[in-house]
Amino acid sequence: MFLDPIQWAESYFYFDSSSTYQGRWRLDRAPWLKDVMLAFADPKVKSGVCRCSAQSAKTQTGMILALWSVCEDPGPFLWVMPAIDEAKTFSETRLQESMEACEPVQALRSGRGMHTALEMHFVSAPLILTGAGSSSKISGKPIRYLFLDEEKDMRKGAVAKALKRVRSKWDSKVWRMSTPKGEDDSIDRAFMEGDQRHWHVECPLCHEAHQLEFDYMRYDAGGLNIRDIWYECPNPACVHQWRDIPQDRAWMNNRGTWVAHNQDADPGERSWTWNAILPVWVSWRDIVLEWIKACAASEIGDKEPLRVFWNETACRPGSYRDTKAEKELVRLSGTYSVKDYEAKGTRIDNEFLRFATVDRGKGHYWLLIRAWRADGTSKLLFYESIGTYKRLRETIGAYEVSPHLVFCDAGYEKSAVLKECCENGWIALHGLPNVDSFIHKVRNALGKVIREERKVFSQFEFYSVGRGLPPVRLVNLATNRLKDITAYLRSSRGKAWEIPGDIGGIYLHQLVREAREEVRNSRTGAVTLAWQQGVKGNHAWDCEVYQVAAAMMAGILGAAQKPEPAAA
Ligand SMILES: [Zn+2]
Repeated sequence: MFLDPIQWAESYFYFDSSSTYQGRWRLDRAPWLKDVMLAFADPKVKSGVCRCSAQSAKTQTGMILALWSVCEDPGPFLWVMPAIDEAKTFSETRLQESMEACEPVQALRSGRGMHTALEMHFVSAPLILTGAGSSSKISGKPIRYLFLDEEKDMRKGAVAKALKRVRSKWDSKVWRMSTPKGEDDSIDRAFMEGDQRHWHVECPLCHEAHQLEFDYMRYDAGGLNIRDIWYECPNPACVHQWRDIPQDRAWMNNRGTWVAHNQDADPGERSWTWNAILPVWVSWRDIVLEWIKACAASEIGDKEPLRVFWNETACRPGSYRDTKAEKELVRLSGTYSVKDYEAKGTRIDNEFLRFATVDRGKGHYWLLIRAWRADGTSKLLFYESIGTYKRLRETIGAYEVSPHLVFCDAGYEKSAVLKECCENGWIALHGLPNVDSFIHKVRNALGKVIREERKVFSQFEFYSVGRGLPPVRLVNLATNRLKDITAYLRSSRGKAWEIPGDIGGIYLHQLVREAREEVRNSRTGAVTLAWQQGVKGNHAWDCEVYQVAAAMMAGILGAAQKPEPAAA
């Protein structure tokens, strides 16, 4: 007896141990997936595109459709992920476990057929996993099902190349599921070309139906303390509010329908979009928390968390970057002189901490000292080229900077830097231009990891420079984002970030040498705006970027404090 993907999954598919849910799959947890899954089994539908938020059961749905096809409507199935190592990890940690728990799939495993993490030859059909751009062993053979998983991370051209694999088969099917990224990139275009189905929810009060949008999510919060969250009926004449409670979330799931917005699409080309408001396993509190933190980051010039929020949670493509504003350059305050703070013991008003940051050159050092207030405002006190190690130590001592507030770039002559850090108790820094964030594990009193936080700096790494010597602490930095924040301060749009009027031309010249430019990501091929690499002679800029890193580590910059009263 032929089973459709939903009947089949409710009978045979069990969640793997990494899933939110355990036990057998049930449609009632995500009824909106019904249309997507039945379309996959509909011979009239040639392609399906899901442009959806992260944590949307994307991979789960892909697994069900792949295994269903092996059992009920077999044909060679090719599953393409952005990178082959990702495909291997996914297979080993999730797919194999779900396959082993699935009776009809097990029955189709032949003893003789090859069965590896990436190539599974069932009696009925092969299931092949690969990375975009990897040359697959089966490249000559016809593919009936092509599944593109998270194509927004794929190398330019790889999507088009993969799509050619199914071109000639009359019963072939292309399925694409991805979070959005750029406007008019391949997943966005594929969605626009399909019939553009949006999930419309009926209001219990006014009975109007609307698609779910982040614009109607409201909250009442002070800092990160969220007192209330609700979703407002988009009808301005209606006062209905949904809350993050099981009944209201279930209403949105059960009293919604897919409405196609593109009447001109080929009837065989379906596309769906939904955001994080819909899946019941995503709490609205987490959505609002992400928004508040992203707004706080944006207030100091760090736009990356907002882009991630709009793309991956609100499910809207776009770069969310104001590239024009980044070109604004430094303005001198001219209200004080470097001489004002030369004398030992002088402090700026309300001084909280002062950091020294050191960039190493050939045979000399660049030293920058900046004093910070607890509110994130600051004053530059000193910037000069220093000829000797002895003078460096003396100058840091004269300005009374505590050793644990001195940060040295270890990107050049690392072993010498580590040795100097060891001798003085200073901290070494290492900038990583291709990393966006570092995971910090937050533990409870019992040492159990309760959650993970992403920050622009890593936790301490410890280096030994010799027997009997204390270990040196080193912090890795996500320099692209730190440079965004520094540029924001430099453009004088952020908190007061003062420069003495008589600082001199060398500082100013070095401060403005580096800018964002278009670069191609070597892994994905996508073109983005990134900070230039390898610009020589920008030591003042580097030292200021390290000051920002230090201020963020100390919690002076970047802590969420004043969110908007309601989501914009
Ligand atoms: Zn209403």
